[in-house]
Amino acid sequence: MPVYKAPTRDTRFVLNELVRLESYANLPGFEGATRDMTDAVIEEAGRFTSEVLAPLNQVGDREGCTRHADGSVTTPTGFKQAYNQFREAGWGTLTAPQEFGGQGLPHALGFAFEEYMGESNQAFAMYPGLAAGAISAILAKGSDEQKAKYLPRMISGEWTGTMNLTEPQCGTDLGLIRTRAEPQADGSYAVTGTKIFISAGDHDLADNIIHLVLAKTPGAPDSTKGISLFIVPKVLVNEDGSLGERNAVSVGSIEHKMGIHGNATCVMNYDGAKGWLVGEENKGLAAMFIMMNAARLGVGIQGLAQAEVAYQNAVAYAGERRQGRSLTGAKDPAAKADPLFVHPDVRRMLMDGKTFIEGMRALCLWGGLLVDLSHKAATEAERQEADDLIGLLTPVIKGYGTDMGYKVATDMQQVWGGHGYIVENGMDQFVRDARIAMIYEGANGVQAMDLAGRKLALNGGRAIQAFFKLVDDECAEGSDNDAVGLVAERLAKVNGELKASTMWFMSNAMANPDNLGAGAYAYMTLLGIAATGLMWLRMAKIAARADGGEEPSFYAAKLVCAKHWALRSAPHAGALRREIEAGADTIMALPPEAFAA
Ligand SMILES: Cc1cc2nc3c(=O)[nH]c(=O)nc-3n(C[C@H](O)[C@H](O)[C@H](O)COP(=O)(O)OP(=O)(O)OC[C@H]3O[C@@H](n4cnc5c(N)ncnc54)[C@H](O)[C@@H]3O)c2cc1C
Repeated sequence: MPVYKAPTRDTRFVLNELVRLESYANLPGFEGATRDMTDAVIEEAGRFTSEVLAPLNQVGDREGCTRHADGSVTTPTGFKQAYNQFREAGWGTLTAPQEFGGQGLPHALGFAFEEYMGESNQAFAMYPGLAAGAISAILAKGSDEQKAKYLPRMISGEWTGTMNLTEPQCGTDLGLIRTRAEPQADGSYAVTGTKIFISAGDHDLADNIIHLVLAKTPGAPDSTKGISLFIVPKVLVNEDGSLGERNAVSVGSIEHKMGIHGNATCVMNYDGAKGWLVGEENKGLAAMFIMMNAARLGVGIQGLAQAEVAYQNAVAYAGERRQGRSLTGAKDPAAKADPLFVHPDVRRMLMDGKTFIEGMRALCLWGGLLVDLSHKAATEAERQEADDLIGLLTPVIKGYGTDMGYKVATDMQQVWGGHGYIVENGMDQFVRDARIAMIYEGANGVQAMDLAGRKLALNGGRAIQAFFKLVDDECAEGSDNDAVGLVAERLAKVNGELKASTMWFMSNAMANPDNLGAGAYAYMTLLGIAATGLMWLRMAKIAARADGGEEPSFYAAKLVCAKHWALRSAPHAGALRREIEAGADTIMALPPEAFAA
């Protein structure tokens, strides 16, 4: 069976030494987040996910979910018991607001827990994960009555939630939605339509499921400007809060899919189901974006998570499996062959994996801090900068994080050779589960366009300018440590390529918008390299200052990984800039018929 142990040591390093949660003790929610407290939460989160969820990961993959003749859906063996433990321990309440029963703790801590959930069992993690997205939309746009009615029980985990956007003819382009919502005399709406691919659409884990559904009201504009958001509970909730009748919503089928088999991805049929408007009519997209932004960061963390769990299994295998001899002479002459670890090409994959994982973990948890600072920082200027930066970095964490997460997962499968392709060893599951994260919550090409087409230009380019300055300032600080000096020098170059690419878009995208579309993906990757490089420079400085400390090998490894980023990751920036500057000429030159055989 695959191994998993939550990477608590590295999480503690990031939270305590890089993000420095304790230094924000003056902000609401951070006052309780002392080092002792966060360390204890991290250790307990590691125990729960490693001991309770990880053993169910292969079970979920093999069994999948079942839709029964009466239309009910059950989850794989053990999921319900594990969900009860999740609820009883209050894991869903970590970052939720205290007024609705949450603990109000920092998002950086919540993101660390999300990472462990994804590593140990991504399919399971999606049941409370989707609920968290629904909670954030109700919090932001729901009425006081809706908040009081739904939030406490969603936050406690008694009920879960879903996001219903996709329809057969409507994927990325939400303007194509056909689901209708007819106003009723009692103030509710009758919702009718079919949604597909709905994660956690039905299950046996909770007593009720609060579906958030995008639909159009009569006479609404036939575009994204005519979309409204509705709360449609699986079971209607009476005035006194008790559960009433079943609503007219049912599961048509469960999709057969490549991975995350333990999560029920459902076709949902709404047949005049009772729904209630969230926010204003025709303003549903704005509410949905709140939910989607939270979910996009969560999906980026899934990329990191699959990379980490696959990496742990590759490391274990590279130490056990013996094939061939080291190029520099036998390392274990008493045995007939050396472990895989001695081969530089195996090490290349492991080092690339380790460096991506630790850089991305730092970026995600720093992203969690930015989420909180954007609401809670003391001054308007600080709140605005945090909001700008997390807005800019969200498509990068989602797009670059999941692209690289998938690449690392396949590299780790490669370390296992042919045995990685054999199902019983479990490496294939990490690859299959990682693949979906590049597709849902906005396919990565759409993330790239959100970044290059929308986020770059917002407020006159304020966010990307803030990012350039952050990197410039970090690089400008001198250091007599060789590794820090090298990382600073290479990161400054990466920032230069990023600035030049941004300028190129400014000069060439207006005349031909395809130039932007053709370079957007490379730009997202370039910004991903720059953002993880910023994390590596900060981590290298901490490691250099620690001067070994009590754990010399931990900090020494940080410096080696930082150099690895500088020597192996940073050089891609120049090539990406050339790709961006190549524009759309070849990409759009051929007519569609020229692509046929
Ligand atoms: C397992 C699974 C779970 C899911 N869970 C949910 C869920 O819980 N709720 C929900 O509502 N949906 C869910 N989805 C749907 C998912 O979000 C969509 O599949 C995704 O948004 C893409 O839509 P599509 O599949 O229709 O692809 P299309 O929109 O048809 O796009 C196909 C390809 O074209 C590209 N493309 C399309 N438009 C553009 C553009 N403007 N610019 C650049 N490229 C473009 C896309 O990048 C994509 O690669 C889930 C899907 C799966 C497979």
